[in-house]
Amino acid sequence: MSIDTCVQSVLAHIPSADVCLVAVSKTKPVEMIQEAYDAGIRDFGENKVQEMTEKHTQLPTDIHWHMIGHLQTNKVKYIAPYVHLIHSVDSLKLLKEINKQADKNQRIIQILIQAKIATEETKYGCPPADVPALLEIAHQCEHIRVKGLMGMASFVEDAEVVRAEFMTLKSLYDECRNQYPSIDTLSMGMSGDYHTAIECGSTMVRVGSAIFGKRTSSHSAV
Ligand SMILES: *Cc1c(COP(=O)(O)O)cnc(C)c1O
Repeated sequence: MSIDTCVQSVLAHIPSADVCLVAVSKTKPVEMIQEAYDAGIRDFGENKVQEMTEKHTQLPTDIHWHMIGHLQTNKVKYIAPYVHLIHSVDSLKLLKEINKQADKNQRIIQILIQAKIATEETKYGCPPADVPALLEIAHQCEHIRVKGLMGMASFVEDAEVVRAEFMTLKSLYDECRNQYPSIDTLSMGMSGDYHTAIECGSTMVRVGSAIFGKRTSSHSAV
């Protein structure tokens, strides 16, 4: 199937007014990204700083680049000039560095706080109990705009486990929105579970393999 066909079939499953499709292009060449762009996609997600920065220089300037992977503090400076939304903020240290680099670039950087919702062992993400405190500090950072939350469900077949994790994130998101009404983005759902995520209230899905085909690495986070 062509990338255009894949894009159209994913879009057909998304209520377009309410849910933003981020095409996850990690490991895929710029030619394929250009095809998705020609099919109408303007939001692309990458998980490595160097790869995203190289692609950014080679592709149309109206692309919104989303950093969806774990971000090391010492690499924030490379993406600060152009990044559209950082999904993976999970520590105070990272928050402060993003604020500093945004200031240097005289811009405001939009972020999501990544909450750890998966019941299986995962390295990254802020424990849900710590999200409100991080959110409060983020709101005090002059060069940061907090857009909402991001989360990843467990990599399991059991759809009910995945649904329960998404519902946990949705209720945390609702609590955050009560506190900060400007929050409007809930980034959850990937190729295997974006239907469920949308049913649970997602406003942004990160879809890679359903658009670009399988990646060569077996683990879906790579
Ligand atoms: C790779 C990745 C995705 C996309 O995964 P697919 O299963 O290919 O859709 C989404 N979110 C994050 C954080 C990722 O690392």
